[in-house]
Amino acid sequence: MEDRANIRCILEQGVRDLAASSDSPRLDAEILLSLALGKPRNHLHAWPREKVERQRHDTFRKLIQRRRQGEPIAYLTGQQEFWSLKLRVTPDTLVPRPETEHLVELALDLIPRNAAWHIADLGTGPGTIALALAHERPRCKFVAVDICEAALAVAMENARRLDIPNVSFRQSDWFSQIQGQRFDVITANPPYVRSNDPCLARLTHEPGIALVSGPGGMEALETIICEARLHLKDAGWLLLEHGHDQGEATLELLRRHGYHKVAGHRDYAGHARNAAGQYLNAAT
Ligand code: GLN
Repeated sequence: MEDRANIRCILEQGVRDLAASSDSPRLDAEILLSLALGKPRNHLHAWPREKVERQRHDTFRKLIQRRRQGEPIAYLTGQQEFWSLKLRVTPDTLVPRPETEHLVELALDLIPRNAAWHIADLGTGPGTIALALAHERPRCKFVAVDICEAALAVAMENARRLDIPNVSFRQSDWFSQIQGQRFDVITANPPYVRSNDPCLARLTHEPGIALVSGPGGMEALETIICEARLHLKDAGWLLLEHGHDQGEATLELLRRHGYHKVAGHRDYAGHARNAAGQYLNAAT
């Protein structure tokens, strides 16, 4: 009994263990210890001398080990905050990134507060963009699609748990299962990493299908830009996230496919990250 270590010791050991493998070893260790203890993070600071049961200490060590092997914190805790929502995530879904919140802001700038628009989110993963927008624009009707059934199950569970009723979900390879529908806005954070990008070595735990899009990284973006024209109402908007070095190429694709008001936007880190274009489709 006496040899049980206290919270402070265990935490400091966890921070040291993560020093080489994480950009935020202290934050990670605190999150994982509070998970292992089943207590909020401030408990660690309030009770540094509290002894930790051996079983919980073992749980913590295993979590630290998984984190050292590169597993994202979000998969270890099973959740990630995005916008104002706590989303459940699993290894079937990409972990929502803070830069994707910028796409949500762009969309909210376009969608009037009381609008009852029809909006599609392609490659929704855990429901990231669709749920954030649907929460902010309750009168709009959303269709969120993903090719991956397991990801879609997570998204549906998020919608249920967060009590967001205005999103319907459809398993679909981009537009394949929503043919004939037209939208006021289409959003997408598609895969855009090049298949030989060295950054993939750091992302081995996340689903490749959500990250990688051919040797140039632009295949999904190009498909969406091309096909969205048939699925936008007149003067509807396409809003895309892309890689930090794909800004010009994405804008060029939008122009080449006949979009108007084509504009790029930077994320909070100053990287080119989003592209927007409006399609004039007078026949519809
Ligand atoms: N932003 C992610 C990354 O580079 C990629 C997400 C995506 O391909 N849509 O880690």
